[in-house]
Amino acid sequence: MITYTKQPHPREYRLIFKNVDREGWDQSIDCYMRDGGYEDLKKAFTMQPKDITEEVKKSGLRGRGGAGFPTGMKWTFIPPNNTKPVYLICNGDESEPGTFKDRYILHQDPHQLVEGMVIACYAVGAKVAYIYIREEFPEAALIVERAIEEARAKNFLGTNVLGSGVDVEIYVHRGAGAYICGEETGLIESLEGKRPYPRIKPPYFPAALGLYMCPTIVNNVESLCHVRHIVRMGGDEYAKLGVARNTGTRILCVSGDVKNPGYFEVEVGKITMRELLYDMCGGPKDGREFKAVIPGGSSSKILKCDEVFKLKNPDGTTKDLDFWDIQMDFDTLAACGSMAGSGGVIVLDNTRKMSWVLNNLNAFYAHESCGQCTPCREGSTWMRKISDRLVAGEASPSDIETLESVAYQIDGRTICAFGEASSWPVEAIIGKFRDELLADTKAENAAVPHNPEEEAQ
Ligand code: NAD
Ligand code: SF4
Repeated sequence: MITYTKQPHPREYRLIFKNVDREGWDQSIDCYMRDGGYEDLKKAFTMQPKDITEEVKKSGLRGRGGAGFPTGMKWTFIPPNNTKPVYLICNGDESEPGTFKDRYILHQDPHQLVEGMVIACYAVGAKVAYIYIREEFPEAALIVERAIEEARAKNFLGTNVLGSGVDVEIYVHRGAGAYICGEETGLIESLEGKRPYPRIKPPYFPAALGLYMCPTIVNNVESLCHVRHIVRMGGDEYAKLGVARNTGTRILCVSGDVKNPGYFEVEVGKITMRELLYDMCGGPKDGREFKAVIPGGSSSKILKCDEVFKLKNPDGTTKDLDFWDIQMDFDTLAACGSMAGSGGVIVLDNTRKMSWVLNNLNAFYAHESCGQCTPCREGSTWMRKISDRLVAGEASPSDIETLESVAYQIDGRTICAFGEASSWPVEAIIGKFRDELLADTKAENAAVPHNPEEEAQ
């Protein structure tokens, strides 16, 4: 019987976060091993590498970093006739606004990640792996480095791991302090010691041409943690968690205007927006009403709480889906025109002015653009300048049209997905809150400072 210092919500299903907030848990290898830690690695060594990949494919695991790409399939993209070294990179550069799950894993259960990474290395044939940890997580880097040393001392890492004949080394690499370092090819450039300019995909899909132009598998922290559970449970059993095509569990990080923000590990697709925001997060703050939700980190398109979506049935007919009945899974959120992304659910209530929200996002993307391509570098700056005017009450109604036009001209014309990430919030906020934004233009009333009560605190 596990006891927690902070009780998980009864609707949670804790697999990855089983040890987070656990009474007596101290992140040491002894503690981890008392709970069956590294037994899944021992089991993995009784299997052939290709069979582990097969189990991961059967599990249906989709990447938890944001794109939701099938993990097992990614592992099979290493060219079959490859003669170069293969690398594994764990992307721990968690920077997506609204997302704070990987940091908790790194802090609270580093051995779960190390075990998952050694299994993944064995499956894909990598002898060297890197954990790229966000620069702003210095404590996490120290905790993981300690875990790596502990694992090496017990031969779960190093030469001839557990007598298997397999060599695996894991190195921690501290990030370079920029959001774009989390884009996988920017990360690889950074790891190579260069400026983190993303590469064009294709041809530079890391699975074929990654670190030092060698095949490289890049997986998110949470994704790699799932690997040990898949080995233990078997892919078919794991796939019983969640819903079809959206299997397993995932950690949702809820922030913003709810009574009880925080992290919640749930079966994918088994929780609706209503259950998440009302039952698990306690509803809106007193005297306020929910207005909108950014469901999968800042790059995902905003959804209005009073929206009804037209979803296509397999037979071509359509059905209505109320915002509150959205299941929190990759496919449902995509069908609603947004995405599940990195699991960062940002909640906005009726005290939030959309011009301020828009400006906040624009400021972030303008600051974080790497500057390599013109539409993103210039466009993100223009968008920020226009929304600066909007919150200052100095924008004209035609500025809203210009803002929208700039966003659409960035979309699809850049080297990496950052371009879309910067334009989608603008497109969605203007598309859904045009009248509210127009009311903040010069022709109407000037924007009042955003939520002055809270800003004064
Ligand atoms: P993507 O769809 O381009 O790629 C997803 C993964 O699949 C990559 O690893 C890619 O290499 C691989 N892949 C896709 N097609 C492939 C092919 N044909 N051959 C080989 N490999 C292939 O998405 P992305 O640009 O890597 O990620 C975008 C997402 O990242 C966004 O949706 C956003 O949610 C998320 N994101 C997360 C954070 C965070 O902090 N967690 C920060 C920013 C963005
Ligand atoms: Fe850099 Fe933006 Fe171009 Fe990505 S889209 S490469 S972040 S300038």
